[in-house]
Amino acid sequence: MITVLCGGVGGSRFVRALASTIEPERITAIINTADDDEFHGLYVSPDPDIVTYALAGEVDEERGWGFRGETFRWLEHMRRFGHETWFQIGDRDLATHIHRTRLLRDDLPLSAVVADIARGFGVRVRLLPMSDDRVRTVVETDGGDVPFQRFLIERHAQDPVRGVRFEGAGAARPAPGVLDAIREAEALFIAPSNPIGSIAPILAVPGIREAVAQLDRPRIAVSPIIAGRSLQPPAAEMMAGLGHVVDVTGVARMYAGLIDGLIIDEADGDRAAEIEPLGVRCIVAPTLMRDEAARRHLAAVALDAAGITP
Ligand code: GDP
Ligand code: CA
Repeated sequence: MITVLCGGVGGSRFVRALASTIEPERITAIINTADDDEFHGLYVSPDPDIVTYALAGEVDEERGWGFRGETFRWLEHMRRFGHETWFQIGDRDLATHIHRTRLLRDDLPLSAVVADIARGFGVRVRLLPMSDDRVRTVVETDGGDVPFQRFLIERHAQDPVRGVRFEGAGAARPAPGVLDAIREAEALFIAPSNPIGSIAPILAVPGIREAVAQLDRPRIAVSPIIAGRSLQPPAAEMMAGLGHVVDVTGVARMYAGLIDGLIIDEADGDRAAEIEPLGVRCIVAPTLMRDEAARRHLAAVALDAAGITP
């Protein structure tokens, strides 16, 4: 079993990359749920949905989230009634949210709901939310505390970040299967996801960081930061706000002790000498997953770094 910790856009691209190279059934993705929220009475779970849609081959590859060819007609009509419409939920996406909200209302745990939705899309990778319990990322700004989605989507990640907290994390339990998926992994990957917005909340669920730190199988991360930049907000904004240097060394410092290897982009090849003293071996490769060929190549590099034969 191969286990991956991941968020949404970057995470889904990497999980999809692995699933195009090894048997999807061999892969377990442990997905961030700290940016879940409620809109219009619907439970929205962005990262599990993005991973599901990507693995189903239905994701909008340009945007990285939502369905390809999606329309937003229902949302336009919500505006008519004066509702807030800054959080984009497409017409087809709406069905997922209604279905999930109904199942949760019937008292199914989130992990069962994530699995049910994945099944609905024919996804063969095992998808696990990090926890069935409520954890919420709150961004601390000069203007006050802002829930993650409002910070990112409504406010375009413009407010300088003073702090980030994961409400509820301390009391949350890893979802069923999460700790075993880490402890029994042949290799563990940390996807090129937002280190603070997507990976830190997973690690904040008691037991998960410890399980990763103690795993004595290859642990490999892929840097989401390329040449000092994130491909999308708010990874760089969050790193900078918390005092991290926004580059591959900053990523390596955050993951030191949790990973054995870090795949950095060719653009950052000269940084390896700075990173390796942290106890993190660097693997230099093209890391931009812009198409199927690029995804396959990165998956091959990552599996090779972890000593996994496809
Ligand atoms: P979110 O939950 O939708 O914010 O997505 P993630 O947390 O999973 O990923 C966000 C990060 O993915 C950003 O910092 C991007 O730079 C990174 N990312 C997206 N696509 C790629 C890619 O093709 N290669 C690499 N290396 N990073 C990527
Ligand atoms: Ca996310």
